[in-house]
Amino acid sequence: MSAETETKPNNSAERPYPLIDEHLKRLREEDRYRFLRRVESAQEARITLDGEPVLLFCSNNYLGLANHPDLKAAAREAVDRFGCGSGASRLISGNMSLHEELEKRLARFKQYPACILFGSGYAANVGVLSSLMEQGDVIFSDALNHASIIDGCRLSRAEVKVYRHCNTEHLESLIREATGYRKRLIVTDTLFSMDGDLAPLPDLVGLARRHDCMLMLDEAHAVGVMGANGRGAAEHYGLDDAADISVGTLGKALGSFGAFAVCRPAIREFLVNHARSLIYSTSLPPPVLAAAAKALEILETEPERRERLAENANRLAQGIRALGFSVPDPVTPIQSVIMGEEAKAMSLCEQLLLRGVYAQGIRPPTVPPETSRIRFSLMATHADEDIRNTLDALASSLAALDAPNLRRAR
Ligand SMILES: *Cc1c(COP(=O)(O)O)cnc(C)c1O
Repeated sequence: MSAETETKPNNSAERPYPLIDEHLKRLREEDRYRFLRRVESAQEARITLDGEPVLLFCSNNYLGLANHPDLKAAAREAVDRFGCGSGASRLISGNMSLHEELEKRLARFKQYPACILFGSGYAANVGVLSSLMEQGDVIFSDALNHASIIDGCRLSRAEVKVYRHCNTEHLESLIREATGYRKRLIVTDTLFSMDGDLAPLPDLVGLARRHDCMLMLDEAHAVGVMGANGRGAAEHYGLDDAADISVGTLGKALGSFGAFAVCRPAIREFLVNHARSLIYSTSLPPPVLAAAAKALEILETEPERRERLAENANRLAQGIRALGFSVPDPVTPIQSVIMGEEAKAMSLCEQLLLRGVYAQGIRPPTVPPETSRIRFSLMATHADEDIRNTLDALASSLAALDAPNLRRAR
């Protein structure tokens, strides 16, 4: 759109952006209009949402650490000692002892020799992919990879070959065809954020080794959740340090904010020199770093949180399957009820809210067309009763959607 049309005074409307208004109208017509709901309490199983008490079933606060008293105390202490902000990027004056200490702990936790922090998981994926890969290289990317991976691929200007979701035969055929590139890299979510299924890591590791490709994993939803020690899906498969780069976030199960990439020292050095989302962005602030460090400690000392989360996930999966929907094996804390059309998913979301359950509807472009859904995320802090109530609410919401009067109304 030209700036001229957008800035022309529009006497007939209060809103002077006709093209944007038109676009928003189209989004509404396509049931793709997004808006923000307001949470007025901490990320607990029970929250106040736009003034109403509801059960929260769409937070990534998997282990219930975001509002943990020890994390809050650690954050407060860090503020007292180091202040609120870090003041600058890592390469200027923003590299504090807290950053280096957390990197050491994360590297040890993930069993890698090196670690580098990023401002967020989004910034990590964009920073790693856009710096490590360049024109003349090729990236093999799962069709359902997270948007931040897609954006990182685009920014890299490498050739991007998208393989069918978790389809290693398709991937191998693409790898075989892709000759004449300098560097080759396979990148995948490990625990897929929208379907809750796991990438076939043993096959991917084998393919990467056989065909001399680098392997990059995004463990955003798996850190703290998968594996006997919560190290992620790679640990679940006994492949702890098999990837060249493994990204994790501090904002999901770890209850804080920010992200990290673990790798070999040479790659860390490379990223410090070239990853623009790292170089040109203020480093993580003290309270966030201290909270994440405390979360790592709790991960090690309280495995029962992970066990409780797994129990909750099994309980919900059983109920969802009993309602006729499929939940992938192994069961994870992300479980989707796929409705198809955007309007259907959003109606189900509203019906659930009427019954006191908040699980957000997810639509394209976040998920492929015709797969709009409600995505449930479990937390260790959900009680048995919360899950029972949610399954009851889901059953009666689905029944309400099938009621003939509702069908006519839509
Ligand atoms: C959430 C998520 C990210 C982004 O992490 P943030 O720290 O929230 O920016 C990246 N990748 C995947 C798979 C995610 O689910």
